[in-house]
Amino acid sequence: MMIIMKSHATPQQVEHVIEHVRAVGLAVHLSQGIEATIIGAIGETHNLPTELFETLEGVDMVQRITQPYKLASRQFHPENSVFPLAGSAIGGEEIAIMAGPCSVESRSQIIETAHAVKEAGASALRGGVFKPRTSPYAFQGLGEEGLEYLAEAREQTGLPIVVEIMSQVQLDVMVKYVDVLQVGARNMQNFNLLRAIGETKTSVLLKRGLSATIEELLMSAEYILSGGNKQVMLCERGIRTFETATRNTTDINAIPVLKNLTHLPIILDPSHATGHADYVAAIARAGIAAGADGLIVEVHMDPAHAVSDGKQSLKPEAFAKMVKQVGQIAQIMDRRLASVRFPVKQ
Ligand code: PEP
Ligand code: MN
Repeated sequence: MMIIMKSHATPQQVEHVIEHVRAVGLAVHLSQGIEATIIGAIGETHNLPTELFETLEGVDMVQRITQPYKLASRQFHPENSVFPLAGSAIGGEEIAIMAGPCSVESRSQIIETAHAVKEAGASALRGGVFKPRTSPYAFQGLGEEGLEYLAEAREQTGLPIVVEIMSQVQLDVMVKYVDVLQVGARNMQNFNLLRAIGETKTSVLLKRGLSATIEELLMSAEYILSGGNKQVMLCERGIRTFETATRNTTDINAIPVLKNLTHLPIILDPSHATGHADYVAAIARAGIAAGADGLIVEVHMDPAHAVSDGKQSLKPEAFAKMVKQVGQIAQIMDRRLASVRFPVKQ
């Protein structure tokens, strides 16, 4: 339920309404925008009459949020959430380009790649150290050793690091090192993990599940937001369909649909969405034209010898060309590519 305060409501009136919301056992989410102060009453509200709050002083109107997700809903938070990333502001005018290998393979590999993607215009470095592999016999990642290499790459380039977390067991070590916790497609509905991440202050990139609907993705975001962590970006990374020509099918529709339903920034992963290096740039361009707030792209110095996802990894030169094109499309959209201003963690 949203309690919209009158534009001239006093701080005392706002406080009084908040006390009433808490008194009926609901949690409060206060949103003080430029246009209006909105008090979100979160919890089981369907049996509560709106008159309970409508009659309080300073209240303009009370609206029910019709969607099952509340904090993620644009109804509840009409302005875009702007997401700080190494001094830039994603979700506003700036577009994030996160790039790097599927897996961190060695110290020299990640450091060399970090310099190459930065040179090409990336604003964040990605790299997996705990890998969700289909086969238990495939390379599973370097673990904490890989995090140390990523931290060193960040120190040298200033690029913030985006790393996938697979389990709560990894939370302490991940929070110590990473700037953005990536929740992979296979863990989108790992609700215990989402709750645990919700209790941290570390930014999150939540990927859409292999066969998840847009509403399910937003409900997963709600788990994180309801724990108090507001720094959530959503990621379209392709969904499973009957089509076999590509690894997944990019749901390009999801970008404007999500922009309409939620205030959270939307990132597109054209690498996992297509599974083929040849198609990555085309889908990246389409994503920015469709209104995405950023891209996460797999880049490898030597894709033929990558330990994972080589087929879909761009070489740095192809990545640089893609960034240039995407930058031009961003301009048409009255936006610009983010640039790194300072590292988030050292
Ligand atoms: C990845 O980013 O390397 C990855 C495993 O992605 P997804 O969870 O989208 O499959
Ligand atoms: Mn990958």
